[in-house]
Amino acid sequence: MFKSLQIEDKPNTAPVATEAERVKCLIIGSGPAGYTAAIYAARANLSPVMYEGLQPGGQLTTTTEVENYPGYPEGVTGPVMMDDFKKQAERFGTDVRWGLATKVDFSGDIKKVWIDDTKLIEAEAVIIATGATAKYLGLEDEAKYAGGGVSACATCDGFFYRGKDVAVVGGGDTAAEEAMYLAGLCNKVYLIVRRDELRASKVMADRVMKTPNIEVLWKHQTKGLFGDGVVQGATLVKNKGEANEEEVKIKIDGFFLAIGHKPNSDIFAEYLDLDNVGYIKTVPGTSKTKVPGVFACGDVQDPIYRQAVTAAGSGCMAAIDAERYLSEKHN
Ligand code: NDP
Repeated sequence: MFKSLQIEDKPNTAPVATEAERVKCLIIGSGPAGYTAAIYAARANLSPVMYEGLQPGGQLTTTTEVENYPGYPEGVTGPVMMDDFKKQAERFGTDVRWGLATKVDFSGDIKKVWIDDTKLIEAEAVIIATGATAKYLGLEDEAKYAGGGVSACATCDGFFYRGKDVAVVGGGDTAAEEAMYLAGLCNKVYLIVRRDELRASKVMADRVMKTPNIEVLWKHQTKGLFGDGVVQGATLVKNKGEANEEEVKIKIDGFFLAIGHKPNSDIFAEYLDLDNVGYIKTVPGTSKTKVPGVFACGDVQDPIYRQAVTAAGSGCMAAIDAERYLSEKHN
């Protein structure tokens, strides 16, 4: 029920590999970037093998209606769109597998990637499309009530709060989208915003403001959660200006985080350049990382656009870059 998008950050010990397999092109991750890379790589005869990760289809499987992806004039839900991507990748022969990359060794010409700490894949080229993971506030109560009212995915878990009161934290497009989704299921949605304005795009912000059962709590921050075993309420702090704060309690059954994402790049940090947030750095205008034969696409390398369509475009670039790398290597 409560999904995590986390690529596990394992201690730097060599996993025990019980079996090894050599592949031409390995794709790690299965959002729009990974599937698009797979479609292009498969059609270029690279026989791609894809490991889907913990959340097959990536973040879009936790979104509701996608209205801005070209080719779907009536809109489409994220899960349906990702299923279409997957079918298209498989149609051209992509070997899509369940499994999580847990460690890599990019020191040699042949790249090593361990799946679930057991299976070793040796790849001539690697395309990283591991996406990004939802951030949490860092409150002890988030862990205390994990599985008991705290979630970072309204689409996954909103169903459990039908007819109840819930809160969403954040002021960006994700928070706006999650609040509107929950407003359609729940009795009341509090949107907890730390500033006095939304970061969300105007169209999304307008929709939030026009939804009668969403109440925006401006300049509020979450101090903690309370409840007997499960979330029954949140303690907030309202900033009234000039160090004047007021504590406010709201009664809620669900507490949804929507405050941004962290790129899933931890396992690559030893070999690739990352920015200060953790986004993989690529050569501008390409998907090339600093390691020849390792390419990155999608949200794991995109701090700016982070859209399904830009992720798909960068997946295409990664497959073309990988194809050129491999053909130069073999000629
Ligand atoms: P954003 O980074 O855009 O927004 C994060 C929000 O969370 C901000 O309002 C921020 O506040 C708030 N926040 C961050 N940390 C805290 C904290 N510790 N306590 C309280 N509030 C906090 O992330 P999103 O996930 O919303 O969006 C990411 C990208 O994806 C954006 O480019 C967005 O446009 C896009 N997107 C597009 C969608 C669509 O088109 N359908 C849907 C969802 C996302 P503050 O504003 O004060 O910094």
